[in-house]
Amino acid sequence: MDCIFCRIIAGEIPSAKVLENEEVVAFHDIHPAAPIHVLVVPKTHVESIQALSEATFPLLLPIHAAIREVAVLTGIAESGYRVISNCGEGAGQSVPHLHYHVLGGRNLGEKLL
Ligand code: AMP
Repeated sequence: MDCIFCRIIAGEIPSAKVLENEEVVAFHDIHPAAPIHVLVVPKTHVESIQALSEATFPLLLPIHAAIREVAVLTGIAESGYRVISNCGEGAGQSVPHLHYHVLGGRNLGEKLL
């Protein structure tokens, strides 16, 4: 298994977990871009949003539920947070396993759009 997130999910690589359930794991990013920077990752290996299919679209529901829960658990639900999923090399995706960055804990005033 050469996918780093699959190895984290399998427990072969340690991570600072925020939550875990049957479908999803969420853990702190090792290179945080904000005081709170958590990655929400489906346990099923899908490369990116672009690789989603009819079979894997249902993963989006537990992912979104986990994002909300992570926001509450890390104390950023009220202050606000940003969710980013880089899709493909041109967007800077460095780990080809679908994941959502949940960022908060500081003013995220700088916006791309
Ligand atoms: P992306 O560049 O959008 O694919 O995001 C991948 C993220 O995974 C980066 O922000 C990395 O810092 C993070 N990352 C890589 N390896 C680990 C790890 N072992 N534990 C936690 N985060 C990681």
